[in-house]
Amino acid sequence: MALSEFELIQRYFAHIVPSLQNISLGVGDDAALIHIDDNCELALSIDTQQTHTHFPEHAAPQDIAQRAFRCAISDLAAMGARPLCFTLALSLPEADEHWLENFSAGLTQVAQEFSCPLVGGDTTRGSLSITMQMQGSVEKGTAIKRSGAQAGDVIFVSGFLGGAAAYVELLRQGTPESEPVDHARELFHADYYQPLPCIALGRAIKQYATSAIDVSDGLLADLQHICDASGVKAILNVHSLPTRPELQETFTQQATTLALTGGDDYQLCFTVPEKYAHNVIKLGEDMECPLTVIGSITEAANGEAIITCLKQDGSILDISTLANTGYSHF
Ligand code: ADP
Ligand code: MG
Repeated sequence: MALSEFELIQRYFAHIVPSLQNISLGVGDDAALIHIDDNCELALSIDTQQTHTHFPEHAAPQDIAQRAFRCAISDLAAMGARPLCFTLALSLPEADEHWLENFSAGLTQVAQEFSCPLVGGDTTRGSLSITMQMQGSVEKGTAIKRSGAQAGDVIFVSGFLGGAAAYVELLRQGTPESEPVDHARELFHADYYQPLPCIALGRAIKQYATSAIDVSDGLLADLQHICDASGVKAILNVHSLPTRPELQETFTQQATTLALTGGDDYQLCFTVPEKYAHNVIKLGEDMECPLTVIGSITEAANGEAIITCLKQDGSILDISTLANTGYSHF
């Protein structure tokens, strides 16, 4: 059987981590952590975006730049890190000045929004590919890892789920880009191209959160990463998933599947001991950031770090019936 993306990483790359004292965290989390001094760790994460895989062929260059940056910096949010700077490796089929001008304008705007300057990179000729390495800093020993979830924690997710996947679904169904924009389509377009990385939220919750991940591959897939890393089980209340009313109206039956398995939302999914749940709810209100409790963490019976999805009537949703359970490149 073909290797999955995560089997591939585990088999060929995860062990290339020399046990040096200054590596606090290597392969397997949203960012690696490098010990800098007694107060600070460097958070490092890299992401690549390519035509067809990450954006449609005729996507606007400003949109491509915005999306690439927002997806990449989101990993720093998941660690509770503060952005420092980024580098850019760009592979271009040709030096199209009009394209480059717009790509640069989009990137400038979003880099300013997050006070995260571009400090270097590499440029080559080839098919369009955009790689960004994000560098952030976090107070020593305070980064939120995927591995800290514990039985008794509640599971939170920020914002709304499924919007970015809804946009991909509209494209898949063949809705032309030039069709008059309706309200829902405009929202899904923004969810896809302009996700809002939760940097401020990551910084704020790190005093309470036991684990966190950004939802890039889909909620089920990403929560599964938390369960695997923490050796725990999750109970997910499917009826509690936060979705926009427009998702329900446009996709009715399919809305829950999009929210569960659609990637690209870049919201934070995180766990908090129950005694701190109300502090986190208050914090979300103060920050005007929607936060929803979507389930709880229990012990993994027989070491099975699985997710059980419950429907409103308390019955179990069989996730093997879903078309997919999250994005994997292979
Ligand atoms: P994310 O979705 O948070 O960007 P990924 O799913 O891309 O994370 O990767 C999962 C983990 O595997 C991360 O810790 C990442 O750094 C690591 N990883 C991915 N590809 C490689 C590789 N080729 N070599 C080493 N580590 C890798
Ligand atoms: Mg991530």
